Amino acid sequence: DAKSSRPGLTLLIAAPRGFCAGVDRAIEIVERALDKYGAPVYVRHEIVHNRYVVDGLRAKGAIFVEELDEVPDDAPVVFSAHGVPKAVPAEAERRKLLYVDATCPLVSKVHRQAERQLEKDRHIIFIGHEGHPEVIGTMGQVPEDGMTLVETVEDVARLPFSQDDALSFLTQTTLSVDDTRDIVEALRVRYPKIVGPKAEDICYATSNRQAAVKELAPDSDLVLVIGAPNSSNSLRLVEVAERCGTVSKLIQRADEIDPAWLEGVETVGLTAGASAPEKLVREVVAKLSEWREIDERPVLVTEEKMTFKLPRQLVD
Ligand code: SF4
Repeated sequence: DAKSSRPGLTLLIAAPRGFCAGVDRAIEIVERALDKYGAPVYVRHEIVHNRYVVDGLRAKGAIFVEELDEVPDDAPVVFSAHGVPKAVPAEAERRKLLYVDATCPLVSKVHRQAERQLEKDRHIIFIGHEGHPEVIGTMGQVPEDGMTLVETVEDVARLPFSQDDALSFLTQTTLSVDDTRDIVEALRVRYPKIVGPKAEDICYATSNRQAAVKELAPDSDLVLVIGAPNSSNSLRLVEVAERCGTVSKLIQRADEIDPAWLEGVETVGLTAGASAPEKLVREVVAKLSEWREIDERPVLVTEEKMTFKLPRQLVD
């Protein structure tokens, strides 16, 4: 048949890949809230940036909305893993809503650091991507004039502060490790007295997934990243592969793979963003093996053992 006449395909599968502890926890929070309170449970924003996950929870009775005013007074509401501005729980309390906060504990940690910098009267330079819900949530921990967003080294050069201003910096959790290092360096050069976190705020899952792609991309002719176009950590994985000089494609599901991408390709690297379930990885492997004989090889850079506790209100 056509498959056996084609050369085999080596598939380098990144490890770690896919779900992180924060995503696991956020999904479990919605499932437990559905069990405990019954459907419908409202969820403010996509609980994690993955259509498959969102559709699955919707089928179980979750209703996804963008803002709190779309939630009726008598329904429970879950805040997504990305975190929310302080005004959101404040409004939920004012309306006496039953709410469960699924903000990843590693994002909450950045929120607390922001509060601490505010108490010390330091203006915060926040490194992140404009418009991402995590950025909106973290910037919403302090008054509007308390934080300035930078996305690039060029943005740092344009900052209006002097070296005598009391400054600190924080970062989004899902950034490019390499770009962030450059931006932090530019900040330290321009503002030698700036105060920063001991280790950057980029989370373990983001850095491990990028490290695994760096390991496999140079040996791959094509790197497939399973993730959503609005998933920051997934987009960064595509960038990492491309910077290794390898063509990389972001796909949500196996059916988005164009067979033409595989022409002349002997080795494919495969990974998944932190919000993409393993089921979608297996779906891609199955799709590829319809076309070519697959030789699957894991590329392991580290093992992850992180888990986070559930909110007390959902633990029996
Ligand atoms: Fe938390 Fe990192 Fe996962 Fe985001 S990617 S939910 S910060 S562990």
